Amino acid sequence: RVKEKGKAHFQFYRSDMNSIFKNVVELETLLRKAIEREELSLHYQPQVDLTTRKINSFEALLRWNNTTIGNIPPSDFIPLAEDTGLIIPIGNWVIDTACKQIRDWSEKGTEEYRIAINISPKQFQQHSLLSIIQQSIEKHCIKPNLLEIEITEGAMQDTKDTAPILSGLKELGVSISVDDFGTGYSSLNYLKKFPIDVLKIDQSFVRDILSNEKDAAITTTIIHLGKSLGMEVIAEGVETEEQAKFLRTANCFKAQGFLYSKPLPAKEIEKNYIR
Ligand code: C2E
Ligand code: MG
Ligand code: MG
Ligand code: MG
Repeated sequence: RVKEKGKAHFQFYRSDMNSIFKNVVELETLLRKAIEREELSLHYQPQVDLTTRKINSFEALLRWNNTTIGNIPPSDFIPLAEDTGLIIPIGNWVIDTACKQIRDWSEKGTEEYRIAINISPKQFQQHSLLSIIQQSIEKHCIKPNLLEIEITEGAMQDTKDTAPILSGLKELGVSISVDDFGTGYSSLNYLKKFPIDVLKIDQSFVRDILSNEKDAAITTTIIHLGKSLGMEVIAEGVETEEQAKFLRTANCFKAQGFLYSKPLPAKEIEKNYIR
């Protein structure tokens, strides 16, 4: 079985799918039609304030449900979307859908709710990204600070494309967070160069904070670093009370993870969290 690390199509093209898919092109065709067939949706994972237990922000996570193959996880189709350029229309759909959701929840709730969306490094190569985000904010009449953009370290390697977009977003008032912090091609230089508001500690560090001294040290250091730079720090993948307690003690005040909630459809978020 051919398995090329980092090549989405081989990862996705699993042996049990041989009967369904002749080739990647077929899968690409399905993904291409996913938007118009309304097979994509956003689920939202609550971000919990560790001191007050309040929930005023959510991360939007993309879901693809195809009638033939069922649910396909983002780890399988996002790389394919990036390879084929489909991440551009899909990403634009995510931006529009999230902005619409912010508007809807601002109207329904008595409080304000922030939504973070994941932006692929590939989307930064799209020169209209800034104006697309700006137009979407205007179209749905939302406060720009209620939208957060999650970028990975990969996006910041290409300073030329990314820098003007990030400073434009900052000017607009959109918040910017670094996702999976510490797992990419880290250069602390970009924390200085880019207008970053939030650091998200990757779940791979959080998972073993109680048993692995190195993970504990790295997590504590990231929290310090973020605080010293005036950034908010959010821990990802919190699954136990013990992890949450460790994080609180280490002065990390925001977390998301299965301990609190898995990502949920908008309707369920509304039922449980929008007040
Ligand atoms: P991410 O942005 O780092 O999102 C966090 C992932 O961890 C999500 O997986 C979430 O469901 C999962 N997670 C949350 N809490 C826990 C926990 O307590 N334990 C564990 N083990 N996992 C937890 P998901 O939804 O499968 O998304 C995977 C990745 O796909 C995301 O990682 C992100 O990089 C990408 N992705 C998702 N939606 C989008 C999107 O709209 N656009 C782009 N470009 N990428 C997306
Ligand atoms: Mg994310
Ligand atoms: Mg992450
Ligand atoms: Mg991730």
